This record gives sequence, structure tokens and C-alpha cells, in this order.
Amino acid sequence: MVASSTCIYCGSAGPFNEEHPLPRCLGEFREAPPIQTGVCKTCNGEIGRAEEQFCRAGPEAFFRQYYDVSGRASHNRVNPFERGSAGAPAIDYKAIHSGLGIEILWELNPGEETVREVRQIVVVDTEGKAYPIRVTQHMTTSPRLKAQVDVLGVSPKEIYVFAQPEEIEWVNSLVTDIASGVTWSSGQPGKQVVGARAKTEVGENYFRSLTKIGLHYLIATSDQVTGAETEFDPVRAFIQHGGDPNVFFKEEQGVIIDRDSPLARPERPIHIVTVEWTPKWVASRMQSFFGPDYEPPIYLLRLAPGVSKLPGQGALGHAYVYFEDGPEGKFAGDVSEIITRRK
Ligand SMILES: [Zn+2]
Repeated sequence: MVASSTCIYCGSAGPFNEEHPLPRCLGEFREAPPIQTGVCKTCNGEIGRAEEQFCRAGPEAFFRQYYDVSGRASHNRVNPFERGSAGAPAIDYKAIHSGLGIEILWELNPGEETVREVRQIVVVDTEGKAYPIRVTQHMTTSPRLKAQVDVLGVSPKEIYVFAQPEEIEWVNSLVTDIASGVTWSSGQPGKQVVGARAKTEVGENYFRSLTKIGLHYLIATSDQVTGAETEFDPVRAFIQHGGDPNVFFKEEQGVIIDRDSPLARPERPIHIVTVEWTPKWVASRMQSFFGPDYEPPIYLLRLAPGVSKLPGQGALGHAYVYFEDGPEGKFAGDVSEIITRRK
């Protein structure tokens, strides 16, 4: 890479810290190309806050739980099925409770391919329709829960409560004001459900994070651009301050990696990041948690129109591959180049 000696976002002369294009919450990958200078500590920290939404609220948050990818151990573990993050709501993962025949909220037991009930109450109206409502750790008074029941505008016929045995007393204290004659049910670990549907909702911060991955990957791998070039002004502004994601982001179906490559049928999920350029445009493509269980959409990130310092056509790409037997020291996996530099 050719490093910028000043921060490409704020123009300061540092201090800098090593920046990894792929968010750390996906794990640290040996030999992955980093940015040494060019993004100052302050800007890196600000962008990192937007990244919380990517790590904790979107499809990637779901698969981090599914595969038990915890990222930096020092980060407090947040349960994305219980609460949202950085402006996005919690993940809704719904399926019918086989014993009760009503639809409730579930969460994944990380890395186990099993589920358990989210701590919740389920209001069932006189027509049998079920309305699950999370009971979060922050709900310390019953009016907050009651307000959520009232806003449904239904007359409850039954209310089911799902909580771990040690939480029942606390949840009970919240529910008594709402209804008496509540039916209790406590969660059992290690269940499997069929036909579960996950709904994630993300906002601008999620798209800023994705776009950051694309631009920073280009900077980390390019020996021609630093990211400070004027052609990247709009994308830098979007990453730093937000804006309309549709200008930069598009979803596509398909597979980035060559179908003949052994990595096209990975036994464990991989992340793929590329950059591609022509005289008319510079773009990044990304697929996260591409693997045996899931063929994710391709995120196409438009980074700039043609950039004068990137003449001709070219492409670069890496696959981020998790180690088969879990992390080795601080590394979750390593990388392999999937598209070789073309001049
Ligand atoms: Zn800066």
C-alpha cells in the first residue's frame, strides 16, 4: 500500500493506529492487509461506533451468534436477540412454539444450532393471535412493559411468560400489574425449531460500516491510491457522517468466487472482499458468511467514479477463512488471495 501521511478523513497528522478493513467483531485474520497510517485514532473510533450496528443488529450479527464468532474478547458480549444496537432494533427470530401452537421469539445458543426462548411475554388476544414482547434487562418497572401491551390495542385473553427460573421473580413483578392469572412457562435450553424466520432491521450505520470495509480494503491493498484522492470525497463523507446509502450500496445475487475454486464450496463460512476498477468506476464487492449453510447476497459498494490514479482495469480479492479448530491465539483464521493483482 501507499500510505497517506495524514488522516484521509480529518486531515490530522495522527496519531494513527492499525485499522482492519473487516470489523474486529468478525475476528482477527492472520496476514489480512491492514491500514497502518491514513486513518487517525479519533476517526477510527468514530467509525467504530457506527460499526456496532453491523456487529450487533444485521444479518452478520445473526451469523456471529450462529457460528459463535465472538471477535475481540475484551468487548462485552451483547445479545442481539435481546436488544438492538447503535440505532437498530434487536433481531426478531420467530417460530411456532410446538407445545403451545403460538408464534414466539427465539434466540440462538451460540455455536450449537439450537435455540431457546427469548425472555418475553406473549399476549394472546381473544382470536388466538399471539404478540410476543421482549422483557429486557432495562425494564425495571412494570409501566414500561404495560405501555408496550397497551400500544397493541388488543384485549388479552392469555399472557404467557418465558423466563429462566432465576428470572421468574423479577419478571413476575413486572407482569402482575398487567394481568393476573398469567400462564407461566420457563425456557429450556437446547431446543430446535422448524420454520424459524429471522428478521433484522438495519439503518444508515450498517451501510456506513459496509462501505468502510470496501474503501479501507482498497486502501490496504492498493499501491496506487491512498483514499485521500478527491474522487473519494463523497464516499469518505458518507462513511464519516452518513447520508443516502442508495448512492453507494446495491445488493446482488450470485457468487463472487470462481465456481471452480475449492473455496466456492467452503466447509466453514468465509468472508469475501474484492475491489474492482475500470476507467469509469471503482467498486467493492463483499459476501459475508458465505458457506455451507447460506449463500448470502453480494453487497456491491460503489466507491468512486473513475479515479485518475487507477488507470486501466484491475481487481483484487481476499477470502477470510476461519480456522477449522477454532481460534489460534488472537487469530480467528487466515486469508487467501482469491483474485491476483492484474496490471
Ligand atoms: Zn482523522
